[in-house]
Amino acid sequence: MKAIINGQIYTDNHFCEGKVLLFDQTIKAIIDKNEWDGQADQILDAAGAYVVPGFIDVHIHGFNGADVMDGKTESLTTMAKGLTANGVTSFLATTMTMGVPYIRAALEAVKNYTEDEQLARQGAEIVGVHLEGPFININKKGAQRGEDIIPADINVIAGYEDLVKVITIAPEVPENMAFIEKYADRFNFSIGHTEATYEVASEAVKKGARSVTHLFNAMSPLEHRFPGVVGTAFLEDIYAELIADTIHVHKKMFEMIYKLKGANRLILITDAMRGAGMPEGRYDLGGQEVIIKDGRCLLIDGVLAGSVLKLNDAVRHFTENTTIGLEKVIPLATLTPATYIGVQDRKGSLDAGKDADIVFLDKDLKVLKTIARGDVKYEV
Ligand SMILES: [Zn+2]
Repeated sequence: MKAIINGQIYTDNHFCEGKVLLFDQTIKAIIDKNEWDGQADQILDAAGAYVVPGFIDVHIHGFNGADVMDGKTESLTTMAKGLTANGVTSFLATTMTMGVPYIRAALEAVKNYTEDEQLARQGAEIVGVHLEGPFININKKGAQRGEDIIPADINVIAGYEDLVKVITIAPEVPENMAFIEKYADRFNFSIGHTEATYEVASEAVKKGARSVTHLFNAMSPLEHRFPGVVGTAFLEDIYAELIADTIHVHKKMFEMIYKLKGANRLILITDAMRGAGMPEGRYDLGGQEVIIKDGRCLLIDGVLAGSVLKLNDAVRHFTENTTIGLEKVIPLATLTPATYIGVQDRKGSLDAGKDADIVFLDKDLKVLKTIARGDVKYEV
């Protein structure tokens, strides 16, 4: 048994002082300091730091030079280890629109990685795959490869169905709408890279779609005579991903989005690509060259291409640019994404019985220490 003392422990949506958090691979209890007998194999002194649940990124392509589309367990290792520096303890390995053999190679690598007990415990846990494309709309492809876009087809992921947790999909393609209806109880469909009308997007929600992918980006916008997918995101009781880097969406939108979606439906993501965590320069993203300069990732034609955002910085941006307060922002990167992808029984909050995924943050939300399933995987 290990113990965390002197932290501001995030429990029941509040920071509490005077508590001790006891854990091994899972969280055992949070008790009052004066009820504790002082017994522990190891005592971690948080020295006044915030102690929060590990962050969960449901949309991330790469980090530290590696990308899921490399189709290699080595790349997944680089991501899983590196992301702990950002307080991330779980993520969905996110694929891109490329030829089907490349997508299947990426799925195979994730399968091999997650089935290997030793690999799987190296850092942040890969809790599944987010398939971003190829079932999207070429007119809203963003940085996805247009020539590899195809109508929805279960054969693309055959054999890996249990691994795939989220599928980004454009419902205005008739085959895609039928696919949502057929498989809504097996996958989380996230409406994205789409020019669906409000009516079509809302129809997709009726058929079982549960989310929108990077709200506002690569989707039909909100207009007063054309509510678009953004209108659907605001009006329907579905989840919405947000890239809170202040580049993809203006920082003044954050408060408005929060008011409309609330803490239980808004999910902070990074959509980070391999150049995240690396010096600025030129990098490959799903077979296309991306130039990273001044914190922006752009294709040669100037289209925004993923981000170099770190999830702890997303939490900071969202906190700094709203009146909500950190206590209400924490769930956007923890319990809400956990609930969305169905891992809330073991992730997303510091409750007894859940995995000991724990992060120490300083007052500027810089990560001081990251514990993943009970082991310290990162510390400054
Ligand atoms: Zn993406």
